[in-house]
Amino acid sequence: MRMLAATLWRQNFGARSSFLRSTFTPRLRHEKRRTYATSNPEVAGLRVIDHHYDAIVVGAGGAGLRAAVGLTEAGLKTACVSKLFPTRSHTVAAQGGINAALGNMTEDDWRWHFYDTIKGSDWLGDQDSIQYMCRSAVPAIIELEHYGMPFSRTSSGQIYQRALGGQSLKYGKGGQAYRTACAADRTGHAMLHTLYGQSLKSGVNFFIEYFAMDLLMQEGRCVGITALSMEDGTCHRMFARNTVLATGGYGRAYFSATSAHTSTGDGNAMAARAGLPLQDMEFVQFHPSGIYGAGVLITEGARGEGGYLINSHGERFMERYAPTAKDLASRDVVSRSMNLEILQGRGCGPSADHIHLQLSHLPKEIIEERLPGIAETAAIFAGIDVTREPIPVLPTVHYCMGGIPTNWKGQVLDVTEEGDRVVDGLYAAGEAACVSVHGANRLGANSLLDIVVFGRACALHIAENHAPSAPQHPSPPDIGLESFDHLTSLLSTTGKTHTSTLRDKMQRTMQSSTAVFRTHDSLSSGYNELSTIQYTFSQDLQVIDKSLIWNSDLVETLEMRNLLTNAVQTSKAALQRTESRGSHARDDFKERDDRTWMKHSLTWQRDVGEDVRWGTRAVQMQTLDESECKSVPPMKRSY
Ligand SMILES: Cc1cc2nc3c(=O)[nH]c(=O)nc-3n(C[C@H](O)[C@H](O)[C@H](O)COP(=O)(O)OP(=O)(O)OC[C@H]3O[C@@H](n4cnc5c(N)ncnc54)[C@H](O)[C@@H]3O)c2cc1C
Repeated sequence: MRMLAATLWRQNFGARSSFLRSTFTPRLRHEKRRTYATSNPEVAGLRVIDHHYDAIVVGAGGAGLRAAVGLTEAGLKTACVSKLFPTRSHTVAAQGGINAALGNMTEDDWRWHFYDTIKGSDWLGDQDSIQYMCRSAVPAIIELEHYGMPFSRTSSGQIYQRALGGQSLKYGKGGQAYRTACAADRTGHAMLHTLYGQSLKSGVNFFIEYFAMDLLMQEGRCVGITALSMEDGTCHRMFARNTVLATGGYGRAYFSATSAHTSTGDGNAMAARAGLPLQDMEFVQFHPSGIYGAGVLITEGARGEGGYLINSHGERFMERYAPTAKDLASRDVVSRSMNLEILQGRGCGPSADHIHLQLSHLPKEIIEERLPGIAETAAIFAGIDVTREPIPVLPTVHYCMGGIPTNWKGQVLDVTEEGDRVVDGLYAAGEAACVSVHGANRLGANSLLDIVVFGRACALHIAENHAPSAPQHPSPPDIGLESFDHLTSLLSTTGKTHTSTLRDKMQRTMQSSTAVFRTHDSLSSGYNELSTIQYTFSQDLQVIDKSLIWNSDLVETLEMRNLLTNAVQTSKAALQRTESRGSHARDDFKERDDRTWMKHSLTWQRDVGEDVRWGTRAVQMQTLDESECKSVPPMKRSY
């Protein structure tokens, strides 16, 4: 009976249930005893508890877990703080796979992967970081294999690799590459569970269902974070000489997104509130195949295994837009082509407003063995049997190329008039970071790679520069208390507009104004609308639930504040960039303009409602080691 009750509870309240936390994280109680309360200041009746660690990782997706495992293995006392139970992080939803030039299907070379990534980025990626990532890809996969990740296999027992968009052999001259290692179409699931297992093995100290609110900054360096325990409403100051932000993307700034509802760009906003810039926020990737009406993802692997897109005439239209790569052209190219088909009246369905993805010609065994998850997803969300009918799809927000600027070691960068400055004690990795390996457009299966490579890079750099025996960071009495003041001010709001109403407005504004195609008019009306939403957020907000225990209204308001900061900076950066590059397609500036715009954009906004400051930063065109691979100069991008 108890078991049944527990199962029902988990099914109903899984995402943020204290049941899950207390059942699966016995370590936490033990940890509390070890690290609790060195000081206990009272802020407006809140209980504030201090902790000290060598390193803190915020986020338990692929990037956070890989960083936490590396730090713990290096002997550092490491806390991993996550608002979700680790295996619920969005990484779990990744389908298609992870790129590495293993050469299991054809001859391959990491330099060809390096070339494809730069071309995919439309020359906005930093070539030193891209070299580091592509060179590290093969060892990263072997490491995951040794950790126990259950990759799909070829008949000879090697890791199976599929075709995915934008991947070529011989610097674009040798045809399609088969470079994407996968675990059927559930690669992220396999990866996240593998890394979670490793994190338990190595002894990471988890703080699960803790919501990180702000960075603790002291004289320009980061000394930790503030957090709210969602279960019991206690407030926490966590001190460490090194903090890694691995909080994922902010896809939920849009109405239709493939990402989890928890992808709210919290880490980006924490950095912004600390006065740091965000980089390249205008580059938001639309995945060609979100299920029409539901937004749920159908992996690019479906096209990699031989699926193709058709319009209402049954025509394989990608042959016209990308004669060589066709359906496996880069995502920005495919999404734009789909939109053009719809705009020119060749969309499918009664409203001619979507496109069909055809899989029914594929052998049933291929679907059962390599695409079982998407067959199930299409049945549930579109009522489609993929062996008989095409899936209705539409470009859907999928990935945020922009984020917290870092170098290839994962160190966060501030940018001043004197140039880049490393922010002492602060690192970022994964979708929250802009390292920038994806530039203006990410290639499919390069993100799962990015998260493990740069999660590891953060751990390596911290471990090299921080002895486990270093003294703990002192806890000054006043630092971070304004973060808790903010909580109490949200709880005492007396306005009339509920968070969910404002969030809906923001998401619809972003969806219509900052879409696949943008113009000055759409962007500036979106920016103005966001200003009104920010004003209402600060002047007329209503948080109905006034308690601190499991207050999802309060947590969603904290997330909304973070989303707004991300949305406004995305809108501002998109408005400023008067060219088309990668995912940023301006209808009023159709060409790429390298002379003016081959640079990263930067935006600053300390808090909701403040003006957004805008600036730029040079793209790193030099590789780490020119003798190993030469930088790729800009050229016209065609597929
Ligand atoms: C449906 C889908 C399919 C995808 N498929 C692929 C694919 O096949 N290949 C590929 O390369 N990429 C894919 N991607 C992209 C890739 O999965 C993600 O970019 C990547 O997994 C992000 O990992 P992450 O570790 O940066 O963040 P996430 O996995 O999003 O994790 C974020 C973590 O931060 C924590 N967090 C956030 N805010 C707070 C806060 N305030 N306080 C405490 N904790 C916080 C969360 O609890 C979570 O643990 C896909 C993405 C989606 C949405």
